[in-house]
Amino acid sequence: MSIEPVENKRHRVVIIGSGFGGLFGTRHLRHADVDITLISKTSTHLFQPLLYQVATGILSTGEIAPATRLILRKQKNAEVLLGDVVDVDLASRTVTSTLLNRDTVTEFDSLIVATGAQQSYFGNDHFATFAPGMKTIDDALELRARILGSFEQAELAVTKEERDRLMTFVVVGAGPTGVELVGQIAELADRTLDGAFRNIDPRDARVILVEGADQVLAPMGPKLGAAAAKRLEKMGVEIQVNTLVTDVDAFGVVVKDKDGSTRRIESVCKVWSAGVQASPLGKMIAERSDGTQVDRAGRVIVQPDLTVKGYPNVFVVGDLMAVPGVPGQAQGAIQGATYAAKAIKAGLKGQTPEERKPFKYFNKGSMATISRFDAVCQVGKFEFSGFFAWLAWLGLHLYYLIGYRNRLVTMIGWFVSFLGRDRGQMAATEQWIFARLAVEQVNSDQADADELAAALGAPPPPAKLYKDGRLTGTDNRDIV
Ligand SMILES: Cc1cc2nc3c(=O)[nH]c(=O)nc-3n(C[C@H](O)[C@H](O)[C@H](O)COP(=O)(O)OP(=O)(O)OC[C@H]3O[C@@H](n4cnc5c(N)ncnc54)[C@H](O)[C@@H]3O)c2cc1C
Repeated sequence: MSIEPVENKRHRVVIIGSGFGGLFGTRHLRHADVDITLISKTSTHLFQPLLYQVATGILSTGEIAPATRLILRKQKNAEVLLGDVVDVDLASRTVTSTLLNRDTVTEFDSLIVATGAQQSYFGNDHFATFAPGMKTIDDALELRARILGSFEQAELAVTKEERDRLMTFVVVGAGPTGVELVGQIAELADRTLDGAFRNIDPRDARVILVEGADQVLAPMGPKLGAAAAKRLEKMGVEIQVNTLVTDVDAFGVVVKDKDGSTRRIESVCKVWSAGVQASPLGKMIAERSDGTQVDRAGRVIVQPDLTVKGYPNVFVVGDLMAVPGVPGQAQGAIQGATYAAKAIKAGLKGQTPEERKPFKYFNKGSMATISRFDAVCQVGKFEFSGFFAWLAWLGLHLYYLIGYRNRLVTMIGWFVSFLGRDRGQMAATEQWIFARLAVEQVNSDQADADELAAALGAPPPPAKLYKDGRLTGTDNRDIV
């Protein structure tokens, strides 16, 4: 199949997603003779590895989520469109995105899909109502409000039972996110909030980490897992491994132990960081290709050149791709997107898809912080933990943060929080707790209203427009 552009236009590259894959793919094409349209449903480039620090009051959202449009302001061959991609037509090479009922169709010659993954509740989506995940800015702010709100309510509690329930924090999933989060909730309670209440002692808070596997940080191996567990336990975190969550409600979780017995943990504030599910676009694209499959997590089983079968111009990268040995980490997304961008550039110089060398992942290692001054780090066969691992973690995260201003402000935030007791971002409002549920309610009401309107013969929704003003399926350029 040819990847030549139609007509005599410049080669048009559409990139979906403004995360690590989307942004690094776009930047790699900055000197290429192409027109890039980056479409994302969020207006920012979110640095997910530091979300837990927003949730626990160390950093503000601006530091970890700069506006994509501003990052790319000087890249003249790139434009940014805000919109949720709802349709990808591989045959007619169009992407349809929607923003507040306005559908926009964007044509492409090459496509890079980097829409990442979302939280998975393993078929129990109703758990989300009571145990939010940690994937978005909204999640982090909701979580901050829930954590701080629990202490506020505990201050007013009239029975010990109620107070204990409010001061018990349960984090489900002991991967890097879960470990980092429990470490920070414990430090928040022990250091930052110490002495700030009159009726409760925040240091009495119970922080519980629940994990189905037999160790924390399973992907990092037993040695680092044991080092992390030892440090967390020293901080007072209760670690419950071989424990599966079977139910979640407003006031607690039900867990099943290895011996099959079940028990309940009373807790108002729960967080879910136990699994991921690829963005639904992956399945749509796989189904529309010539026989590409998705794995159990919905990730696209791509060809060795990260494309889908039958469409050498359609690349799937980052958390959305399934490539053996490539973890769902920022490095995988950056390297995948860079590979796709290079393949597009080589194609412009005449390289055929058959001539592409397969994508090769270079594992630069992984790390997780546990507390201030303590982290675990794995680089190849080399494993270490403690203060030097923490310094390495600090340096690496600063390096990958986008923008000098953000790096500087983040460093100041860390200085204040890690050397002192204070945290600069302790604001939280009631709206942050309830907004997600309210939006879900509005959307479901809207769906009901749309269904009723259709049944009553209401006119169809507005037509989709190409970016140049054509209506879909017509050549009418006078519409806009
Ligand atoms: C809390 C947390 C901590 C993490 N910590 C680490 C860490 O320490 N180290 C590490 O290497 N990795 C870490 N990761 C994983 C890392 O962040 C991901 O592997 C990486 O972000 C994947 O990049 P991506 O571009 O594939 O997807 P993402 O970064 O998730 O970006 C997806 C983009 O697609 C957009 N999008 C999604 N659906 C649509 C749609 N339908 N239409 C339009 N746009 C859409 C989203 O808005 C977003 O901009 C962490 C992840 C989380 C959640």
